[in-house]
Amino acid sequence: MSRISFTTATLPERKRIALVAHDHCKEFLLDWSERQRDKLARHHLLATGTTGLLLGRRLELPIECMISGPLGGDQQLGARIAERRVDMLVFFWDPFEQQPHDPDIKALLRVAAVWNIPVACNESSADYMLGSVLLDQAHDYRIPDYSTYLAARS
Ligand code: PGA
Repeated sequence: MSRISFTTATLPERKRIALVAHDHCKEFLLDWSERQRDKLARHHLLATGTTGLLLGRRLELPIECMISGPLGGDQQLGARIAERRVDMLVFFWDPFEQQPHDPDIKALLRVAAVWNIPVACNESSADYMLGSVLLDQAHDYRIPDYSTYLAARS
């Protein structure tokens, strides 16, 4: 991390929240999102394909769907994070099963750490995240300073 410098950006008031759940965790995410529906409804929601389809049916809210995770949906979300077009990630990954797309999952979690967005990987942390006073406020946060990074390499 020492080679990277940082700068400040602002997370918007209306967050772009990405939601993903592995198959054995989908019911947990659906139940959780139903409980949190009022809060989620104030924000823009994105999801990997199957998760998004199920969420849209359960919540009756618009969900911007990527393709299915194993087909590249996690990578699509990762790209959006790197482009600073996703502000939060709720990712109920399965701690008991390997996935065919494990490298994509690792990459998604990594890029979320790089870009310092809030990430919740289970129900309790997702509740804390949505319970934060920052959820509905614009606020500053630290991100890698890409222009300094480029300048240092030229
Ligand atoms: P899915 O993908 O929502 O299309 O099931 C989730 C995942 O990344 O496994």
